[in-house]
Amino acid sequence: MSSITSMHYAIRKSESRWERETAEHILRIREKYGYNSKEYGDIKGSFYCYGCYLKWKEVHGNEPDKSKIPLLTHVDNTKVGGTYFRLRHLNEKSEGNKHNAGCCFNDPTGYLKSISNSFDYMDVDTKGVPHLTILKKNQPKGTKNNRFSTGEKDSTERKRYQSFGALQEIYNRYNNAWTELTFRTEDSKNVKIKDILFSSSEAIKIAQNYQEDILIVTGVIKKVENRNNGGYINIVFKEKENTPFPSFRLSVSPDHIYSEGDLKCLENRNIGCYGRTRYNKTFAQMELFSLPNQIVFFDLEENEPCPFTLPIINLKRMETAVTDTLTAYKAVATIANVEGFSYYLKNQKNIPLLEKQIEQNIMKREDLLQEKKHRIKVRDRSVTEKERLIVQLNNKKDELVTIKNTLEKKSSFMERFFNIFKINESKKINSLLSQKEIVQEDINDLKQEFYVKTNNVVDTENFIKHIESHAVDIQTRISTTLQVMDDLKQGLKVEKVWREVVEKENCYIYHISTANLWIAVQISKAVYNSSIMEIKCLFQLHYEDNEMRFYPQKIQSIEFNISSNELMIYQKIRNELDNRLRHLPFLKKMKVTKKTIVNS
Ligand SMILES: [Zn+2]
Repeated sequence: MSSITSMHYAIRKSESRWERETAEHILRIREKYGYNSKEYGDIKGSFYCYGCYLKWKEVHGNEPDKSKIPLLTHVDNTKVGGTYFRLRHLNEKSEGNKHNAGCCFNDPTGYLKSISNSFDYMDVDTKGVPHLTILKKNQPKGTKNNRFSTGEKDSTERKRYQSFGALQEIYNRYNNAWTELTFRTEDSKNVKIKDILFSSSEAIKIAQNYQEDILIVTGVIKKVENRNNGGYINIVFKEKENTPFPSFRLSVSPDHIYSEGDLKCLENRNIGCYGRTRYNKTFAQMELFSLPNQIVFFDLEENEPCPFTLPIINLKRMETAVTDTLTAYKAVATIANVEGFSYYLKNQKNIPLLEKQIEQNIMKREDLLQEKKHRIKVRDRSVTEKERLIVQLNNKKDELVTIKNTLEKKSSFMERFFNIFKINESKKINSLLSQKEIVQEDINDLKQEFYVKTNNVVDTENFIKHIESHAVDIQTRISTTLQVMDDLKQGLKVEKVWREVVEKENCYIYHISTANLWIAVQISKAVYNSSIMEIKCLFQLHYEDNEMRFYPQKIQSIEFNISSNELMIYQKIRNELDNRLRHLPFLKKMKVTKKTIVNS
């Protein structure tokens, strides 16, 4: 970008201090004392480049020596363009009196780049041309190290000053010379400021030709009108008395956070407003949505603080925005009644009873387990005895077989030698026969005993099974009672939170009967920054047959913040809320009824 030849400011060393001078001030001295007066003669050689001075301080961190920055000459050119300073021509080639590197008057690029780092809505491209993105309105994500960052913790009620935007910063540096700067507008045109600077009456003509041009409309503000029936606020410029057209106006949309009071600071000020002209029926107008980004004050006093403060979010308007959005989901606003939400509170007395039940059942279960252990021992003993009986039985059976075999042998032998051994043999046989009988009886006894033991084992096993199923029943009963108690405790917690919220200031309660759902919306200022509003919505389903009985589950909630720095706040609340509601599982199926929003 080329250098600025006409500088509005100079820096002058008076006594020990460097002081900024304006070309107008020097002009007044010259007019007062005369162009060749001693008064002017004393100071005419003491003007130095203000841009070089600032750069020196930025680079070296101290005040420069006079020889380190270039001299300026005051020029009175009021008849053709105005009064200003320019670089002094020391000799023909004016060598040795050049701007220092990085001086914002020599090359504005570096300065504009540094501005763009601090301000949203302005970026400098690789060619050094600053791009304005003010009219795109999308809230930047705070990536720039700017003064509007919302996380600052020192923002208190009293310090609600808002800072200026980039345009004012640039105007303050260059003053009238800013008209020489080139910008790229949202229409992708590279323009010099002087080419888009129009008085309000000139802007009326441009708008009347239905040209929706981006320009800076300038003039003095006559009046900030009250919000009209459509919800708009109009800010009217002072036009020349004989103009046949209605005054040019800035128009503030109903969704915008600004109230009349926030805009009064513009009255009787000489300003410029960056924006796009429109012609609306009989009015030429421009939309105003951001005081810091669009407005430039041309009449600021030296060190005057920013005339506008952070706008305050209107709770009533917020409530309307929330209610409108929820109404689309068939929610009905109701009066909050703290006492109403006390179903669990009333049933709280059952907790000790349930605890006792659980305790008793646990004891019963313990007893059953002991009994089971005992029965298992009894069964194991019977099984061991059964095994012993089998062994005994087998031994007896073997014995019987032996006796039978011996008897068989004896009888065949006896037949052959009957006569010889008759008496002795018959005795032996009789003894064997009686032995056989005894063994036979033993076997029968053992079989009987085995049968009884077997029955015992079967009975005991059945009994163990019975105990087991009884224990399972009791366990189920314990679990059920525990669940009832847990539900009661969880319900109590939910009710407690709910009652606390309902009692808070700026809490609004809604009910959706088709979804069995309660909604509480609480709006509050952030503790860390009063210009930030926190919106918290709680959702709780209730039983179909009793709307005052919550489902004992964790409260679902959505939370988001909105800062008064943002544009179109009430619209944003609507969008934000709607986006989040749509994704809630219990509202997903609901058919949203669209409603035309009327603002008051
Ligand atoms: Zn300079």
